[in-house]
Amino acid sequence: MAALAYSEPKPKIIAGAKGDWELVIGLEVHAQVASKAKLFSGASTKFGAEPNSNVSFVDAAMPGMLPVINEFCVEQAVRTGLGLKADINLYSAFDRKNYFYPDLPQGYQISQLYHPIVGEGEVLVDMEPGIARKVRVERIHLEQDAGKSVHDMDPNMSFVDLNRTGVALMEIVSRPDIRGPEEAAAYVAKIRQILRYLGTCDGNMQNGNLRADVNVSVCKAGDYEKFRETGDFGVLGTRCEIKNMNSMRFIQAAIDVEARRQIAILEDGGSIDQETRLYDPDKNETRTMRSKEEAHDYRYFPCPDLLPLRIEQSWVDAIGETLPELPDGKKARFVTEYGMTEYDAGVLTADITDAAFFEEVAAGRDGKQAANWVINELFGRLNKEDLDISNSPISAAQLGGILDLITKGDISGKIAKDLFEIVWNEGGDPAELVEKRGMKQVTDMGAIEAAVDEIIAANPDQVEKAKLNPKLAGWFVGQVMKATGGKANPKAVNEIIATKLGF
Ligand code: ADP
Ligand code: MG
Repeated sequence: MAALAYSEPKPKIIAGAKGDWELVIGLEVHAQVASKAKLFSGASTKFGAEPNSNVSFVDAAMPGMLPVINEFCVEQAVRTGLGLKADINLYSAFDRKNYFYPDLPQGYQISQLYHPIVGEGEVLVDMEPGIARKVRVERIHLEQDAGKSVHDMDPNMSFVDLNRTGVALMEIVSRPDIRGPEEAAAYVAKIRQILRYLGTCDGNMQNGNLRADVNVSVCKAGDYEKFRETGDFGVLGTRCEIKNMNSMRFIQAAIDVEARRQIAILEDGGSIDQETRLYDPDKNETRTMRSKEEAHDYRYFPCPDLLPLRIEQSWVDAIGETLPELPDGKKARFVTEYGMTEYDAGVLTADITDAAFFEEVAAGRDGKQAANWVINELFGRLNKEDLDISNSPISAAQLGGILDLITKGDISGKIAKDLFEIVWNEGGDPAELVEKRGMKQVTDMGAIEAAVDEIIAANPDQVEKAKLNPKLAGWFVGQVMKATGGKANPKAVNEIIATKLGF
């Protein structure tokens, strides 16, 4: 398999009045574990349920209730760690992060500060064909999500919905290795893709299944390299953290506008306060949420209700055995196995369901042709109708059937597109449809010849002209195709016309 080349991330340069500035970005991605039950209780995690219908006594923090770790969630965190080529810590532990959360009745969040379950890993971020940028992952820890306060249902009251309270999150913390808005979005996209391949997170950003806190600072040329050499954060600029971003587009816009805000302050002789900010997409600006002075002392301490988590290497290995082929490997294999371009391989492997669909179509067929049809016809059509592969009206077997008819010479590529439309709208078996509707390509030379003769006889003027100007033969081809309802084999038509007109 072709090895994937990679480079270090490339800094985005923003020109200020007093010289150029470089961006430095670190992301904390919160990914909801695809688990039916919560991290420490058996309550359901189903999205969109009646408010407060998925709340156990543990989630509601009733006195005396004790959390019990959900082994499935631990397994998903390990799986995610392995997928990000990270170290799995056989010993990890839960800590309490103390804070008044109106939507987390315990009064603290159970998280993993000192001993996370997953350590150092890496993500290759695809930025241009053939070259990926390497972003280091610092850690992944398991933690509980909070519930939701609802302020817009009543003018005088706020409500709380505890359905999300206690749902398992994996917090994936990157090193500050991301150097621009596009890289940040591509990094989140790659994490989402890998998690969906692994099946550990649905990655539905609209539902908040995947969201990111974005840390941004700016520095001068050379400072970042110094940081990479020494590991000294002091040589970098002060960062601000933009909370809870759940759209790739907003992530990019927020980074850009935040970097420009910081540059303006620094060039004006000011300094950056480390603070938490919110992005307002309507005004395209970031605003202070809380400053460092107001930063909460979370008084983290080991959660006394939970034993440290000790897992066996053999269990980790067993989970490793069940990992699917991951995006980078699949993409490289598509290029070599099917002879497609890196770009097409990227499109077809973007989502694991798309890739599986394509492979079903391509099995035993011409891979390049299959790729063409899946990308141009099927994906094009799905996009137009705002559908995705999971609700495609055409199955892989049906699309494969259409390709078989082209290969056998039963239909031309043009008729195949009409057939695609019919199958899309009405369903059915492509081969039967072609029979039933008389769509079969005419390869019977006698029949084509008869059609050609008829047209030649009816158009003596055109024949004279064409004899002087062979380019006009195309007109005859068009007439024959029309007369045969587009079903004549185009190659045969061309040959017969050329012979009859004496070219
Ligand atoms: P906190 O809980 O205070 O947000 P974390 O360690 O969880 O701290 O996350 C810090 C995030 O900020 C990491 O992704 C890290 O890479 C990033 N980061 C740290 N320093 C900088 C900096 N100077 N510029 C940009 N990002 C930074
Ligand atoms: Mg943070």
